[in-house]
Order: sequence, then C-alpha cells, then structure tokens
Amino acid sequence: MLFCQKSLLFLQTDRLAMIIAANWKMNLMHDEAKNLVADFQELASNMPKQDVELIIFPPALYAAMVSEAAELSWGGQASHPSDQGAHTGDISAAMFASAGANWQLAGHSERRTDHGESDGEIAKQLAAGQKAGLNVMLCVGETLAQREAGNAIAVVTDQLQHALRGDVDFDKLAIAYEPVWAIGTGKVAAPEDVAEMHKAIAGWLATAHSPSDKGRVPILYGGSVKAANAAALFELPYVDGALVGGASLKIADFAPITAAAKMVVDAQ
Ligand code: PEP
Repeated sequence: MLFCQKSLLFLQTDRLAMIIAANWKMNLMHDEAKNLVADFQELASNMPKQDVELIIFPPALYAAMVSEAAELSWGGQASHPSDQGAHTGDISAAMFASAGANWQLAGHSERRTDHGESDGEIAKQLAAGQKAGLNVMLCVGETLAQREAGNAIAVVTDQLQHALRGDVDFDKLAIAYEPVWAIGTGKVAAPEDVAEMHKAIAGWLATAHSPSDKGRVPILYGGSVKAANAAALFELPYVDGALVGGASLKIADFAPITAAAKMVVDAQ
C-alpha cells in the first residue's frame, strides 16, 4: 500500500542483481531481428540470471520469435490499459502476458512525446500490466530545460507520484531514470547527477512503500549507455542496471555492457 512507510530509516543501499534491458524501439527488419535474438539467446545462456537479468523490449511484431527463444525475458514497449476491445492498432498488457511476456515498459519519453501519453494513462498502463502479472519498468526523466531550471528532481518525483498513486505491487516494479536529453543523443548524464537522482528516487520509493522481502525497487539508468560509460555508471550507488536503446541493436555493442554489469556484481 502506498505511503504506509514514511521513514527513510529503511532506505537500503544494498547491491541488487543487475538488470540490463534492451529497447529495440522501431528498429530491425525481420531477419535482422531473428539474428539478434539468436545472439541475445547465446549471451543470456552464458550470464547467470541471479547476477544479471537480460530483458528485451522488441517491436511487438517480433514478440513470438523472442518468446520462443529460451532464457529470454521480454515485454512490450507500450500497451493499452484495457484487456481487449475496439482499439485498432493497440495491444494490451493482458495480450502480451498471454503471449509469454514477463515485463512491460511504461512511460517511455518517446511515447509521452510521440503519442501524448499522459501521467494518468501511464498509471493505467502500469496497473494493467501488473494486473496481467507482468513486471513493469516505469520510465521517468526530465527535459534539458527542466534540468537547467533546477527542477530535475521535482519533475521526476512528480512523475513517480502520478504513476504510482494506485494500488501498486512494488515487487513487480523497476524504475528507469532516463533524462530525455540523454536518450539517443550520445550525451550521458554526469555520474554525480545520476547518483543524486537515483538516491532521490530510492528515497522517494522508501517513503512510498514498506520494504518487502524482495528488497528495494531496482532503479536503472537510461540515456546513451555504451561500453565506454557502463562500468562507471554501474558502480554508482542505487544504479541497478541500464535501459539501453541504440547500443542494444548490435551484440558487439550490447555484450560489453552486460559484462560491465557482471563485473560490478562480482566485485561485491
Ligand atoms: C532508450 O530509448 O530507452 C534509450 C536509453 O536509448 P539510447 O540508449 O539510445 O539513448
């Protein structure tokens, strides 16, 4: 239940297993996707899931090929909050779950911008995803103007407040902090800014729910993550992995990011 634990005394700093999620967006032709699924499958078979969980958010058209590949966790990039009905072109969380998904992305900034998804709609998607039994990865993040105005933390906590105001299962939740200005731009947020934001998100979450047996909610960073910057990000407190766009489209770019995550876990 929300807001039942108001104390930060329970803010845990322990290292969780890492989550490295690939957001393929609207990329890859059919055969390219097929080859990349095979590459991810091989990568996942060599990566202990208790250390690093790999997740793919493929274009929905390729869901079946990802679902059929053993070892791969996956989910939809967006979903309609109703289970089914007259919503041409949409796919529901319940349909993704029935096709074998175990995750769901919600609130990606490209959906907020391209499709005008509001905080209210994102909250409904999150609730529908969890009702369907899915883990939901909620994306939050500020624009450059909001950061420059000194409002980054206020914007992000406001997004959390709106999306997580319902009856949320915190054991089926991950947060992806993705500064909008860092997505697909090659600009990665400064480590001190990432650390500050992740600590603020962890603090907000600790006031919003009681720590469960499973522990705190994982908080991923997203925004131009690549092999060259991954290790430095993963070493930061409260950074529990990454949501990766561009660098998830080639296994040669993606594999070193997962290796960096494994190194950080092994060093604990
Ligand atoms: C994303 O789309 O979630 C993302 C982080 O993209 P990129 O890694 O390309 O910045």
